[in-house]
Amino acid sequence: MSSLEIKNLHVNIGDKPILKDFTLSVPKGEVHALMGPNGTGKSTLAKALAGHEDYEITGGDALLNGKSIVGMAPDEIARTGLFLAFQYPNEIPGVSIANFIRAALTARLEDGEELDAAQYYKTLYEKMDMLKIVRKFTARSVNEVFSCGEKKRCEILQMAMLKPEYAIMDETDSGLDIDALKAVAEGVNLLRSPERSSLIITHYQRLLDYIVPDRVHVLANGRIKRSGGKELALELEKSGYAAFAEAAA
Ligand code: ADP
Ligand code: MG
Repeated sequence: MSSLEIKNLHVNIGDKPILKDFTLSVPKGEVHALMGPNGTGKSTLAKALAGHEDYEITGGDALLNGKSIVGMAPDEIARTGLFLAFQYPNEIPGVSIANFIRAALTARLEDGEELDAAQYYKTLYEKMDMLKIVRKFTARSVNEVFSCGEKKRCEILQMAMLKPEYAIMDETDSGLDIDALKAVAEGVNLLRSPERSSLIITHYQRLLDYIVPDRVHVLANGRIKRSGGKELALELEKSGYAAFAEAAA
């Protein structure tokens, strides 16, 4: 079955092992949540999968639809179908959102193919309306002097336009007020598709009130310590991560 499959992955930052024998599979059509205490390696997983050079995969494998992405360059991984919504999105001064997304879409076209500008803006505006992003946003530089909520909506807008087969959202809920949280969750829910595997990384259960996951996994000490249904998130909300932190010590 086609899916995002992570098998016995080991990831180091410098000499420091962060992920140790991490195994997780997200079948097509499912939304999984990855939860865990701060500093356990959730963002490390996301960045290693996206091909960030500081995060060295020292063992194991990561497969998209059966194809290994280990060792691929970030743009190649993106073209293979993986999209990462960052926990801390970068500012790109001088590049408007409209041009940024257009360039990302154009990069995926075959040689000689062109993006239809009218159709592009029509789709862009539809998705912006869906995410409750005001039109003047398109002309603003990517993430420059954006509020936290604006940055996160911009990440989801990119996702809505690029329609990746595999989406990883790293703490898309952090720093959001309730209206922004709902708008982002609505956007993510509209992107649920039998053709897409999504992994939602979150520290708190709150986002999962709005995006109901098929499975919940708890990361501690570099690997999945427990997996369960959506009720596991509620249990964690009550008990906290202390039990897992102790097990990890
Ligand atoms: P989480 O996202 O679960 O909060 P991270 O993956 O960001 O955790 O971090 C895991 C560990 O790796 C932490 O101890 C953190 O300090 C360390 N770490 C993360 N990124 C870097 C980096 N670029 N350089 C050095 N250490 C890092
Ligand atoms: Mg993180």
